[in-house]
Amino acid sequence: MSNSIDEILKQAKLSKEDVITLLQTDKIDRNKIFTHAAKVKADNVGKKVYYRGLIEMSNICSKNCYYCGIRMDNKKAERYDISDKEILDAVKFAHESNYGSLVLQAGEITSPTFTKRISNLLKQIKEISNNELGITISLGEQPEEVYQEWFDSGAHRYLLRIESSNPDLYYKIHPKNKKHDFETRVNCLKSLQKVGYQTGTGVMIGLPFQTYDDLASDLFFMRDFDIDMCGMGPFIEHHDTPLYQYNDLLMPIEDRFTLTLKMIALLRIIMKDINIAAATALQAIDPIGREKAIKVGANIIMPNVTPGMYRDSYKLYENKPCTDEEAADCTNCMEMRIGITGDDIGYGEWGDSKHYAKRRQQI
Ligand code: SAH
Ligand code: SF4
Repeated sequence: MSNSIDEILKQAKLSKEDVITLLQTDKIDRNKIFTHAAKVKADNVGKKVYYRGLIEMSNICSKNCYYCGIRMDNKKAERYDISDKEILDAVKFAHESNYGSLVLQAGEITSPTFTKRISNLLKQIKEISNNELGITISLGEQPEEVYQEWFDSGAHRYLLRIESSNPDLYYKIHPKNKKHDFETRVNCLKSLQKVGYQTGTGVMIGLPFQTYDDLASDLFFMRDFDIDMCGMGPFIEHHDTPLYQYNDLLMPIEDRFTLTLKMIALLRIIMKDINIAAATALQAIDPIGREKAIKVGANIIMPNVTPGMYRDSYKLYENKPCTDEEAADCTNCMEMRIGITGDDIGYGEWGDSKHYAKRRQQI
């Protein structure tokens, strides 16, 4: 077995069977994958981590994804919508802390009022930061005109996870209706690329009903889609969601964690020059989970700059870390944490996807 892992890793191109074999490796063999991925990262994007200050603007959502704690029908979720002033205060904090970039994330709302509000916020962020902050947004499925308007207002990266690239599994974790349509999600990703965003997607790992074959297909979906960025993380159950009824089918949480690290490492091997985020959900399982992800291929981290009083309410999953902290607490903590990985921090840099730059040159 050991030899065959070495042989597989030496190949220029991995087949689906290879990926499935690698996803199922034990401790000794998986360390070979991690070491290989760390080298690929160092050679292609360098040993450097970029910050994206994360603002969880609102947990109001019009959708009902079966896995998510802030789904519309969860009446137990206490809803909030941070004021523009508080958002801009968080922006100033990220700018003063030299974070380089921001992520604005929220539940999915589609309305002309929401579109305008985001456009105004984007323009103000650019203005108060002298265009020094790069902006990623993660605001769900929207019409192409809305993506265009937000791009023109200053956002240049967009994160929209496909969640699972297998339509059958997609419909096991979402209601089967117009609002949760697999094809629409894929078309949104196409629109984002067309508009010109650095386009990011990702999946949840360790979902009920998910197979190794599904996960290998997810990696190839990302490769074939030619994405620029990826944010993928372990699925973490939430009591007040429909998916909780399948909890017995889940693999132990530690295994979901390790499988996520393997997915990150394999994606780094397959897509050498993209940006890969160390998902916050990893930290919900292991206190140094994100740092472990950085060691095996991730190069983006998203320190939470949401005002402390709202953090507890943005509960996509349970045991969400750092909900009792303020943004300033994160800065020192983060610096110490990245120190463990041996990587440098790209303070004040946008840290754009190298893959995007190459992709655009080819157009
Ligand atoms: N509403 C937007 C952005 C916020 S949700 C959207 O859905 O795109 C951001 C991500 O949180 C989702 O893409 C999903 O992958 C993740 N998420 C939601 N519930 C989760 C859970 N129980 N465990 C792990 N990740 C979860
Ligand atoms: Fe809403 Fe996003 Fe949660 Fe789905 S995953 S319910 S769209 S916040």
